[in-house]
Amino acid sequence: MSEPVPGQANEDFVAAGPGWVVLLDGVTALPGIDSGCRHDPAWLVRRIGGQIAARMALEDGEPLPDLVAEAIKVTGEAHTGTCDLENPDNPSATVSLLRRRGEVVEWYVLADSPIVVDTGEIVVFRDDRVDRLPSYTVEAVRKVRNSPGGFWVAASNPEVAYEGLTGEVPVAGLKRAAVLSDGASRLVEVFETMSWDGLLQVLDEEGPRELVRRTRVAEASGVVERGKRYDDATAVLVRF
Ligand SMILES: [Zn+2]
Repeated sequence: MSEPVPGQANEDFVAAGPGWVVLLDGVTALPGIDSGCRHDPAWLVRRIGGQIAARMALEDGEPLPDLVAEAIKVTGEAHTGTCDLENPDNPSATVSLLRRRGEVVEWYVLADSPIVVDTGEIVVFRDDRVDRLPSYTVEAVRKVRNSPGGFWVAASNPEVAYEGLTGEVPVAGLKRAAVLSDGASRLVEVFETMSWDGLLQVLDEEGPRELVRRTRVAEASGVVERGKRYDDATAVLVRF
């Protein structure tokens, strides 16, 4: 399930099919900054996410980074005539993918939407490059975005797809997995009131709606040091 910040457009995108999950989290546009693009992050995640999902549905085993690169390319072609795709402030998004292929489950993460797997022990696949920036001023972030030594997000350059982290886990012994936007992992990663294990348990036993409800309660009363007070929250649980 996916729940936007109340009253606002959802900048998360989620789609799932037999054996696959696609989740994107659009980076919220900064007020007063010319992105060079007439589209918003919600448009971008629907386009790129929809393209990835369409390719996942083919079940032809195309490598995940290739599939992401194609989706970014096709999305770029949809607005190259109307927008300046060289502008470094173009809308951008995270991409996290999970796909069963034979006896393994493949994972892919570009930017900070985590994938959590439970094999009896909890393993988190997370691209934390965006957490290790020297400075978070608008200028500093712009400088290291989609450049070596910085962090990578899906925008208009297809080559960025190959900066995503990827790997596979044997299906044997895999109990459950969750794909989350960082708005749904805040109880663990921001408010630190829950472990990853606890988060999986809430998802599994009480459902994603309960996880989001608890997150909204924490957001209403908590202090967020970096980033937004409320965030779009999307969580998918897969049982094996
Ligand atoms: Zn555009």
